[in-house]
Formats: sequence, structure tokens, C-alpha cells
Amino acid sequence: MLNQEAIDALASQAVPARGHLINGRMVEGSERIEVTSPIDGKLLTTIAAGTEKDVDDAVAAARAAFPKWSRSGPAFRRKVLLKLAELIEKHALELAVLGVRDNGTEIGMALKAEPLSAAGTFRYYGEAIDKIYDEIAPTAPEVLALVHREPLGVVGAIVPWHFPMMIGAWKVAPALAAGNTVVLKPAEIASLSLLRLAELALEAGMPEGVFNVVTGKGSVTGKALGLHMDVDALAFTGSGGVGRQLLEYSARSNLKRVFLELGGKSPNIVFADTADLARAAKVSASGIFRNSGQVCVAGSRLLVEESVQGAFLEQLAAVTEKFRVGNPLSLSSDIGAVSSADQLGKDLGYVEKARAEGGTVVTGGNRILEETGGTYMQPTIVTGVKPDMTLFKEEVFGPVLAVTTFRTEEEAVRLANGTDYGLASAVWTSNLSRAHRMIRAVHAGVVHVNTYGGSDITVPLGGFKQSGFGRDKSLHAMEKYTDLKTAWIDLG
Ligand code: NAD
Repeated sequence: MLNQEAIDALASQAVPARGHLINGRMVEGSERIEVTSPIDGKLLTTIAAGTEKDVDDAVAAARAAFPKWSRSGPAFRRKVLLKLAELIEKHALELAVLGVRDNGTEIGMALKAEPLSAAGTFRYYGEAIDKIYDEIAPTAPEVLALVHREPLGVVGAIVPWHFPMMIGAWKVAPALAAGNTVVLKPAEIASLSLLRLAELALEAGMPEGVFNVVTGKGSVTGKALGLHMDVDALAFTGSGGVGRQLLEYSARSNLKRVFLELGGKSPNIVFADTADLARAAKVSASGIFRNSGQVCVAGSRLLVEESVQGAFLEQLAAVTEKFRVGNPLSLSSDIGAVSSADQLGKDLGYVEKARAEGGTVVTGGNRILEETGGTYMQPTIVTGVKPDMTLFKEEVFGPVLAVTTFRTEEEAVRLANGTDYGLASAVWTSNLSRAHRMIRAVHAGVVHVNTYGGSDITVPLGGFKQSGFGRDKSLHAMEKYTDLKTAWIDLG
């Protein structure tokens, strides 16, 4: 049970200046980045701005640690990862508060989605590694063909500013479990909890150099990792623009494999035969507005059947207007801060553009609580959004819902698939056959039915089309971090 006093006590502590974590040691680095809290706009601490040399050092440490870690045997790696899961849980509130001060996610959600989810991920892959077998191929009897899975070597991971621990764990845990070593570059505005995670990994018995964190700017530190000749794979979550750059870096350097989890403009499709429109409205509002819409799978396009548009929107607006937006560390806030002033400016710009292109703002649309110095925005619903409008096509990554109506199932499918993205989606209907038809027809990595946003570590997450390729989570994620090697043995 969350307790306000415990949260406040942790939030009142000063955050010391942080360096990189390379080869088991904190390395100060030569340049600094100021970290401002989105809660009040004040300076929280400083982190190191990683240079090419810092990235070189981290990759060299990871390379040196690779032979021993990869040959250490699943039982040892399992023990370390399970211990790390235990330590994350022990420090869960501390990690959650630190992360919220950095990126503004509401504390209740942050606790579950960040440390507790990350602990579950380390436990899942820790448990998995000594239960996955290699293969013997069904060849002719005079041959024995073995198919081995081998780790790749040094994995670079680059992650975004929202849910850094959850998304970081989705990459780091399977990579380490498979026997790789890792250099992680967090987003410049959400590095603190991941640096702490790397310290806990050392405490859990992870050998030095196995898991390194280099902080800094994408255009310098991230680029150096992307272009590095001794990084074997890059696992990325973030925007499509940066994803494209990583593919270029790979082509210009050592053809390292690149896995991209990118953005979305996910359709949430409400048919008139939905059994419980009130519940659909409530779940849909959470599906877009929690964490101020800064969720990759957010249901940011509502497609609603014309005959129920009025009734549904009335309920949706009522739920939306009840959300309490405010200090993310307060248990009385339902929604926290937008992660940065830049992002807030972008979100408001999209609302202005939607108005100019013919959309109607039915609720929200403004910055609020400016007097706190923080970056807060009202959850915003825009109706009358047509397929040629910017708000229909582009990911806002903020608390802005685009509403479009349809008349037939075919039109719903056409609208749902009418963007470059294909990350998530939902279908609300009481018709089982329609639900199955829609699951097949919608191009997205996940189709929720009569809910929005359910998931756990056992199922893959990732996109179709320009939402990327490669999958995080589930045992399938292990495939990204291993390679197949065939041994062909002549028994004759
Ligand atoms: P971003 O692409 O701006 O940054 C992501 C990371 O890339 C950061 O660590 C950043 O420093 C780094 N980076 C920036 N420029 C770089 C460069 N030139 N070379 C190497 N690294 C560079 O994304 P963001 O704004 O932090 O995150 C929001 C985006 O992430 C949204 O588009 C969202 O949909 C997406 N996302 C996708 C998923 C998924 O699973 N598909 C999950 C979460 C978020």
C-alpha cells in the first residue's frame, strides 16, 4: 500500500550528481547535463554527458567481460538475475520516486510499471534461461546435426524517457540472460533510475563490466554507440526518426543488427454493439490519458460508430474531466506531468494544428498549473478528425485523443489501418465473429478485445509497419539476443 509520508520523505532527499557506470565503477565523465524535474521545473541534479571515449570505455569493459559471463552457465546467470529482481523489489519505492522526480509519471503507475515490472522481467528471464534447450536436427542417421544458440556478444540498448526501467529491463534482462554483456544509454531526461539499477546489479553479484550504463545526449553518446565497431546488436525503443538513424549507423559501421520498437497511432475501435459503453468509455480514457498520453501503445485514435458517437463521447468526456492532473508524487493525482517543457510545447502545437485543420476541442486543450513551474496539460479530446489531418496521422505522445466516426466495419478497418504505424489497437464489440474478423484485419502488434492495454511479460510487444520490428517481452525476445550455430557431425 502506497503511503504519502514515505513518498514525501524520499522526495525530500537531494539527488547527488551522477556519473556513468562503467566496469563496475562510477565514472564522473568530463561534461555534465543539467536534469530539471518536470514536477516544478527546478534543477534536480546533473548527470554525465557521455563522450565517444566514455562509450569506447564502456564497450571495451563489456567486451572484456563477455567470455566469462557467456560461459558462466545458466545456473549462475539465473542466480544473479533472480537476486537482482529481489533487490529491485526491496528498493521499489526509492526507485519509483527517483524516476518520477526525473520524468513526471504518476507515482501509483510508476511503482507498478517501473520497478515492480522490471523486477518481474528480470525474474522471468532469470527463470527461463536454464529451461531452454538447444536442438538436434532430424537428419539422416549417419549424421548428427546440433543447432546451438549462442549469445551475440556486446549488446547496445538505447531507451526513451518514459518507463525507462520497464523498457530498459525488457532489453537488458533477456540480453544478459542469453549470455551477452550490455551497454545501456538511457534518455537524457530519465537516466537516474537506470543508473541505480546498474548499482543494484553489482550488489546482486553481477560481475564488473557485464552491465554498463553511459548517460548523455542521443546525438553524441547514442550516436557513438550506434556507430561503434565492437557492438554486435542495438536494441532501441524511441521515435521513428532516431530508429532510421540507427539503421544508417549500422550500415556505416559493422552491420550490427538493429531492433526497433517505435511509435504508434493506435486505433481504439468502438462498435455500436459494445455490451457496456460506460465501461468502454472509462477504459478508453485510461488507455489514452494515463501518464499524460506518454505511452507507446496509447489508444490515441478513437474510431467510434456514428450511431453511438453522441452517447459514447458524453461518457468519455465526463470520465476525462474527472481526472485530477497534478503533482505526480501526490497520491491524490490521477495524472502527473508532461515529461518536459519541449514535449508540452509539442503537445499544445498539435492541438492548435488540429483546430486549424477543422477539428473541435470538446474538452481540455490547455496547459494548467503553470504557477507550480511544472509542465502539466489537461487531457484533451478533439472530434471531427479526418484521415487527411495531422492529428489522425502523427503520433503526439501527449494527452490528446483524436476522434473519428465510421459507419461500417469495412470503413472501420480502412481507418484503423490508415496510418504508417501498427503498434497497438482495440476493438469493442459483443459480436464474437466480428471480433475475430477485426483481429485478422487490423495491422498491429496487438489487438485488444473489449479492453484497452492489458499485457504481461509472457506475450510479445512490438509493431507492424513503421512501428518497428523485433519483439520485446516473452521468450521470443531471446531470439534477438542469440544466434544459431549448426554443428554437422559425420558419424560414418
Ligand atoms: P527518441 O527517439 O527521441 O529518444 C530515444 C532514445 O534515443 C534516447 O535515449 C535518446 O537520447 C536517443 N537518441 C536520440 N537521438 C539519437 C541519435 N542520433 N543516435 C542515437 N541515439 C539517439 O524518443 P523519446 O522521445 O525518448 O521516446 C518517445 C518515442 O518512443 C515515441 O515515439 C514512442 O512511441 C516510442 N516508444 C515505442 C515503444 C514500443 O515498444 N514500440 C515503447 C515506448 C516508446
